[in-house]
Amino acid sequence: MSVLVYTESENGKFKKNAHETSSYAYEVAKQLGVSVSAISFNADNNDELGTYGVSKVLNVSDETLKTYNAKAFARAIAQAAEKEGASVIILSSSTNSKYLAPLLSGMLKAGYAPNVVAAPESTSTFTVKRTAFSNKGFAHTQITTATKIIGVSNNAFGVIENKVEVVIEDFSPSVTDTDFSAKSTNIDKVSGKVTIADADIVVSGGRGLKGPENWGMIEELADVLGAATACSKPVSDLGWRPHSEHVGQTGKPVASNLYIAIGISGAIQHLAGISASKVKVVINTDPEAPFFKAADYGIVGDAFEVVPELIEKLKEF
Ligand code: FAD
Repeated sequence: MSVLVYTESENGKFKKNAHETSSYAYEVAKQLGVSVSAISFNADNNDELGTYGVSKVLNVSDETLKTYNAKAFARAIAQAAEKEGASVIILSSSTNSKYLAPLLSGMLKAGYAPNVVAAPESTSTFTVKRTAFSNKGFAHTQITTATKIIGVSNNAFGVIENKVEVVIEDFSPSVTDTDFSAKSTNIDKVSGKVTIADADIVVSGGRGLKGPENWGMIEELADVLGAATACSKPVSDLGWRPHSEHVGQTGKPVASNLYIAIGISGAIQHLAGISASKVKVVINTDPEAPFFKAADYGIVGDAFEVVPELIEKLKEF
């Protein structure tokens, strides 16, 4: 018996969430007294999963599964779970895994809890703590089925090193044409920059920046910090930034270690999407801006003065 983790990768490299889900799987497996198996798709460096507690990797090197496909990946993960006798399946709460998990849940008749932020309180009840109401509260959800699927929120549990010996096995799941009823043949990324989901640091701009021509300093600050860029909803609605950067209740959720909000008022719908971030820094001219109440650090000042100064200081490091 084992705990199975689906480790996401892109262009052969594991995403940061693969290390986090593996660390989480190790914690659950430790409580159950079993080991962790992983399934990876066309990843180059399966060995590295041993650092995060994975004892066995089922390595799928199949050309048809090179591009993410929710149904086909779910089919393969279901077969891996059966092969390993896994009663607990761990995956990320990334957009891709959130599409895939309900399909997997149907295939395995397994209960699924997404947005989980902590290890189960006890493996006898399998009650997990998850964010609820757009991150405004927590739910404690018991998964009562024999097979359980847990979707771990990004940056909630953390990456923990638990070095173990790792065995890598080739795994050839049986997927058929019907598993590819909707198929992406090619994925063109908008840019080669750090994505919001993978970012440790996010630099986000709002309407206070007045126009798209002023985003150079946001990009520069993000470059200096190795951060992703994001924005408030009106900014993407106005076409100043791509919709892929819109964060908040109706946009992407952010669970970074550091979120820097520049010229953003801190409306409840914006805060709902970023409240899982660990440290929030706000730069705003208005000392009464609601964002200051949610901030860990605040700078009352003009972004056009503060940000260039911040960039200069950071470049000195
Ligand atoms: P504003 O509210 O215009 O705030 C601009 C801020 O910049 C102000 O606080 C101002 O003091 C400051 N500022 C001005 N000049 C400077 C300067 N030179 N330097 C520094 N600061 C300056 N919003 C989201 O962001 N995400 C969502 O997902 C989202 N979903 C929504 C869903 C619904 C159903 C609804 C009704 C609204 C939603 N909104 C969402 C919109 C939200 O209510 C706010 O209108 C929006 O977040 C405001 O964006 P903003 O802070 O960029 O702009």
